[in-house]
Order: sequence, then C-alpha cells, then structure tokens
Amino acid sequence: VAAAPMNYSTVQNSAYINGKWINASKGQFFKVFNPANGQCIADVPNLGVEDVSEAIDVAEKAFQSWSNKPGKERSQFLRKWFNVITENSESIAKILSDESGKPFSEALGEVQYGNSFVEWFSEEARRVNGEILSSPVSTRELMHIKQPVGVAALITPWNFPLAMITRKAGAALAAGCTCVIKPAEDTPLTALILMECAEKAGIPAGVLNVVPCDRNNAASVGQLLCENPKVGVITFTGSTAVGKLLYKQCSGSVKRIALELGGNAPFIVFKSADLTKAVLGAVGAKFRNCGQTCVSPNRFLIENDIFDEFVNSITSYIKENITFDSKSTGKMQIGPLINKAQLEKVDNIVQDAIKKGAKVHIGGKKASDVGELFYEPTVLTNVTPDMICYNEEIFGPVISCIKFSDENEALKVANGTNSGLAGYFYSKDVSQIFRVSKKIQVGMVGINEGIISTAEAAFGGIKESGLGREGSHHGIEEFVNIKYLCFGDL
Ligand code: ADP
Repeated sequence: VAAAPMNYSTVQNSAYINGKWINASKGQFFKVFNPANGQCIADVPNLGVEDVSEAIDVAEKAFQSWSNKPGKERSQFLRKWFNVITENSESIAKILSDESGKPFSEALGEVQYGNSFVEWFSEEARRVNGEILSSPVSTRELMHIKQPVGVAALITPWNFPLAMITRKAGAALAAGCTCVIKPAEDTPLTALILMECAEKAGIPAGVLNVVPCDRNNAASVGQLLCENPKVGVITFTGSTAVGKLLYKQCSGSVKRIALELGGNAPFIVFKSADLTKAVLGAVGAKFRNCGQTCVSPNRFLIENDIFDEFVNSITSYIKENITFDSKSTGKMQIGPLINKAQLEKVDNIVQDAIKKGAKVHIGGKKASDVGELFYEPTVLTNVTPDMICYNEEIFGPVISCIKFSDENEALKVANGTNSGLAGYFYSKDVSQIFRVSKKIQVGMVGINEGIISTAEAAFGGIKESGLGREGSHHGIEEFVNIKYLCFGDL
C-alpha cells in the first residue's frame, strides 16, 4: 500500500525527539526561505542546549535496545526506511527543492542518490563482522569484535540536505548507533520529512532525532554535542573552519570525530584528452548544485597546447546548453545560490579576479533579472596566484582556467593547497594516468569522469579536507570500536 503523500503541514512546525513532534522548550522559531524566490516557507522550532541535551538522553536510552538487535533486524528497518523514501521521492524532492533552491530534477536526483546510502547500509548492516586471529600460542584464541560507539551526533550542511544525513545516519544505524541530527539552518525541512519517513518505516522512537536550531544557537548546541560524554562520535560535513572548531572541542574528552570539510578540487586537462568529453565532464561537475558542492572542480588546469580550444569550447557549450529556466528542455538548468552571504562571497571572488586582471569569457556578474540569488555561469582566464579564486573554494558557478606546460607543473599547482578532497583529470596516456592517479594529493580521483560519488565507494579527503570515510563498507568503521578478546587457559 502506497503511503499517503507527505506535505508541509505535517512536518514544518516540529522538531523530532523520541518519536514525538515537539516545539522548542523556549517556544522560539526560526524562518526557512526559498532561495529561488525569497518566500518564507516555514517556521521551525529553534532548539537550545536544554532540548538537545534531552535528545541525547533519549538517544542513549534507545541505544540500549537498538544496539542489541541483530544486524539482520536493523537491516530490515533500514530497508523499510528506504522503501518509504522511495515511495515519497517526489514530495520529498519538492520540499528539498523549495528550501535549497536546487531545480526539482536535481532535487529528485539527490533523493535517489541519498536514498542509495540507506539501501547500501541496509545491506551492510548484516556484515559488521569481526575476525578470528591467528594465535602465537596454542593455549589462547584471539578475536576481534566490532561494537557500536553509542550515540552519534550528526551536524550537516545545506548543500545536500538529504544525502548528507542519509550517508551518515545509514551507516550509524547499521552499526547499531542511534542519532541526534542537527541539520543546517537553511534546510531543516528535508531532515524532518526524513523523520516522517522513518516513523512510517517503524524505526523505534529515540533511534533517530532531529534537533533544528538557527545559526545563533548552533555554536552552543555544537559545543554540547562535542562535550557531552553520552555522545560517542561526532560526524560533521561543512566548512573547514567549523570542522576545526569541532575537532578542538572534541579533544577535551578525546571524542571520536569524522569530518568532511572543504575541498579545492583541481580539474586537469592534459593535451591527449578527449576534449569534448572533458568539456562535458567539467560542466557536469562544476554546475551541479550551482557549484555548491565540496567536490566541485575549483581550479581548471589546462595544458598549453589545448588551452584556447578548451576555453572556447566550454564557453560556447555554456552559452548554448545552460539555462536558469526549467522550461528550456534539453538544457542543464541551474538554480540560485543558497543565500545572500553565499552570493556576495561568490561575486566578491569574481570581482577580485577581474580587478587583478582576469578575463571574463562569459558571465562575471549576478543574474539579478532572474532572481536576487542567481549568478551567471562564469568562465575566467588570466587567473593568477594572487587572486582569491586561485586559492579558495568558490562554491559557485565559476570556472577559472589556469595554463600549465607539463605534468609536473600541473601536479605542483594541483597539490599546492591544504585541501585534498576530490581531484579530476582527463588524459588518454595510460602511463600518465597511473602516474597522476598516484601523485595527486586527494582522497577521491575522477579519471576521465566528472561525477564520481556512489554508495559503493569511500567518500572522504586528506589534508585539511577531513578525517574518515563515508559510504562503502568503510563507512561503518566510523561508528564502531574494535574490541580485542583474548581467550586464555585453553
Ligand atoms: P556553510 O558555510 O556551508 O554554511 P558551516 O560549516 O557553516 O558551512 O555549516 C555546516 C553546519 O555546521 C550547519 O549545520 C551549521 O549550522 C553548523 N554550524 C555552524 N557553526 C557551528 C558551530 N560553531 N558549532 C556547531 N555547528 C555549527
């Protein structure tokens, strides 16, 4: 039987703790806006430390029974959650699209991508296996077992309001942990509708809790989650600055932490590359979510011989195939940036580049005629190391192209950053492919591919881009402790 369609009225006014839809104890709310048209779409309870403290207690209590269930049973709950999300994909995508501004088709894509982690971890829940070890003496048997760490606190960003929750919560639940989820203040509604799905799937009260709060309360709530001894692990996706703060706050109690932070992905095109495919890969990777993804290519490094051809091709491709309008069929539609701060940040990066001598091939300004938060897809050349766009994560629809003359120079520029999340390169030279794959300093590499994330593979970074991995069978490791058992006197 198909579930009743979900709508705003059931979720918008409530946090979700212990299986109940509740208000903030202080009665405060914060507003959620649609970035595409500036309309206020919901008032959501603004929780404080007292409310969140209660959510932690509840999750700890639920942990006692959830962690004791066999993996097979947790697997079945996750599978049911996956099914309810699948049945309601369109209504979830509508809300996700409204609060994040991403076009509906992209929002639907995120529901499917995000839900693939619930499916994946429903399968992995049955395989949280230990090991029997080879003993050095005949009177002992040695064993490793894996045990869930306890309550997992999730702090998630607005750019993938659904997938950043499911990628963490799927693994946590499979491992036997319970969750307290603090969604981003721009996009709490998707988190709440996911709870409605969990409720319909019969996931027991207290196993999943959502504690929305505004930006002002985020710091004290974040500190509580890091310092409360009942929380076993913090898992965070967001900015490097906030990630570092949380890491510091976890040091007092040596709390486990998993971090997915900012990237500064290089996208290298070598002269042997198939240029048409490189352009398509670049556009797909860059303009997805209007450039607001941590794995977005941020610096386009193009070999001398093909530089002009690449720049001309990508500029005309953008002119002909990218639109703000959902009715222009066959074209890639891009949405607005998430909020005013993000818009000003992107524009500031572009204007800084222009002031310092960058050439604009297309775009280079706000698309104010479309809507307040829209930005024109932009291509820049003459990009130099003194520009902000050369060094910092742009998080907007801006392609900055940098010339290089050989592989070593490309790698030097690509690796000359403190970030190391994703990297991409296009080449047809097999030896070069192997060399560059090994030397590029990132956690994930797209080789002749621009979009690489999938539930089966490990997502995560090196250097300041983070700690730990999400997705794949490694994703569960963030939520378990290994216990060594030594059976003696045999
Ligand atoms: P962005 O710049 O993309 O908004 P942030 O790192 O600021 O990225 O936000 C990611 C998540 O971290 C959001 O849920 C936000 O509310 C939360 N957050 C922001 N500041 C803090 C903080 N001091 N402590 C805990 N969480 C925070």
